[in-house]
Amino acid sequence: MNGSIKPLAALALAVFIVPWLPVPDFWITQLNYIGMYALVALGLVLLTGIGGLTSFGQAAFAGIGAYSSAYLCTHFGLSPWIGLAAGLVLTAAASLVLGWLTLRMSGHYLPLATIAWSLALFYTMGNLEALGKYDGLLGVPPIELFGFSLKAERRIYGLIWLAALAGALAVVHLLDSRPGRVMRALNLNRGGGTTMPEAMGASTFRYKVVMFVIAAQLASVSGWLFAHLQRSVNPSPFGIKFGIEYLFMAVLGGVGSVWGAFTGAALVKLTEDQLQVWLPRLLGSAGSYEIIVFGIVLVIVLQVSPQGVWPLIARLWPARKATVTPPDAEPAAPLAARDKPARGELLLDVRAVRKAFGGLVAVNDISFAIKAGDIVGLIGPNGAGKSTTFNLVSGVLPLTSGEVWLRGKRVDGLPSRTVARMGLSRTFQHVKLVPDMTVLENVALGTYLRTRSGSVAAMLRLDRAEERRALHEAARQLERVGLAAQQHELAGNLALGPQRLVEIARALASDPAVLLLDEPAAGLRHQEKQALAAVLRQLKAEGLSLLLVEHDMDFVMNLTDRIVVMEFGTRLIEGTPAEVQASPEVRAAYLGTEH
Ligand code: ADP
Ligand code: MG
Repeated sequence: MNGSIKPLAALALAVFIVPWLPVPDFWITQLNYIGMYALVALGLVLLTGIGGLTSFGQAAFAGIGAYSSAYLCTHFGLSPWIGLAAGLVLTAAASLVLGWLTLRMSGHYLPLATIAWSLALFYTMGNLEALGKYDGLLGVPPIELFGFSLKAERRIYGLIWLAALAGALAVVHLLDSRPGRVMRALNLNRGGGTTMPEAMGASTFRYKVVMFVIAAQLASVSGWLFAHLQRSVNPSPFGIKFGIEYLFMAVLGGVGSVWGAFTGAALVKLTEDQLQVWLPRLLGSAGSYEIIVFGIVLVIVLQVSPQGVWPLIARLWPARKATVTPPDAEPAAPLAARDKPARGELLLDVRAVRKAFGGLVAVNDISFAIKAGDIVGLIGPNGAGKSTTFNLVSGVLPLTSGEVWLRGKRVDGLPSRTVARMGLSRTFQHVKLVPDMTVLENVALGTYLRTRSGSVAAMLRLDRAEERRALHEAARQLERVGLAAQQHELAGNLALGPQRLVEIARALASDPAVLLLDEPAAGLRHQEKQALAAVLRQLKAEGLSLLLVEHDMDFVMNLTDRIVVMEFGTRLIEGTPAEVQASPEVRAAYLGTEH
């Protein structure tokens, strides 16, 4: 995430000097609009850039903010501040309902729903007698602050930019936090998704709704400012055309960074004004041609720079290292730890689990058990069903039949985040890291269930004490797997072997009772494998139980207490490493083909 505090402070300084300078009023007007647009676009940076969710309905949320306050002020003579609060409450309610209904479904429902929602709200605003139909509401009072009227453009300017910069700061803070890590893991366009954060214990649905609500709130504040700046409201700035335009600003500016919101808002506002002057002269008639020109510009810009204009501007500055608060040297109180199972306790009991993918039975009534302190190996040729078994046990895939018991409770049918909460953590054969987060942040995602801070606390930076503890825990786990030196690198820059170690550190950061490792040694060099084996032995000595899928036979034979051999989805044999090695069936099925 490109957005640390320093450039924000610089922008704040620049912005707040402007009204004191002898600049023309027109500049102030333009900057007022840019600030209000940026506020809406910021929500889209969060929603689209981070979460990979698209909304055409942000103008409609701005409409709720504008109309709520205008209505309460003109009909009941209430203060604009009460209007703001009412608008935020209404926006929250509307976005919660809309998000709740659509975000459970696949990605396409949200954009469609936001279009429908925009149209519905537009016609509601235009047809309600109480809202003045298409003429809207006139005579909206100016905002007063400490008895000081913000009627003049130069005065409301301060409030608009305070809101825009506070919004930017809140988004930057949110992204660098416990909820932010989950949000940044979601974007399908950047290789993310829901599987990994769910396996870390997070309800991804909830975070999608939270992002949607926050984006709607930012739009609502913008609409409120707009109503009191214009001193009137009517439906047209809140229709679908503006909904598209906001999305357009965000994408043009660059949804990957809060700066993109400001860049996009400025570009669109300034070019739009020029186009409104020049296009009718060129084309001879007035009309909304600018939207066509914008469409063409967007296509060209995205060809040149798929991340929007901001990254092009950012290149003018020397590159900075990723900015995450590094854990300081001072010790932090460790995070709460789980009650450790007694050695020998039956931890994981897998009973005849079965998974059919259509006609293919990938896992055919597999049973095995793990006692506390055991390392069990699951081996078998490629396609034997090992990873699928992992997914059944960890709740990532629903099973066709069978039962899974974890610490005496039945867990099959439960979502993976609940299984994680009960003490099971895992890594993925196809590594699932967030490539544009640092190694440390990726591992900190593993502390999700041991920490509590929510989005509001994160935006207000009330989460710092807990965050320090989480980052310390992450650093500790990284040290354990031998990656302390790389903690500030972006995870995507690591080779595959070290990436697997990051996954192990992330799983360990959740303080699991059982750890499932899917091919942890694949891609590691000989010495790295030995170091990993030492780490796993150490974990076993601490009472942790491990289920291990591995191809390297030496690695498994020297490390495990018991081995389950699978072939074509069925269990071939279960026994000690010596028994397995001696088995002629295993030699034929597995060793014969692999060695
Ligand atoms: P392993 O990890 O032992 O190499 P997997 O568990 O990945 O094997 O796969 C077992 C079998 O199930 C393979 O034949 C694979 O093609 C199939 N399979 C795995 N996942 C799916 C899926 N989501 N849909 C259909 N078939 C799948
Ligand atoms: Mg596999």
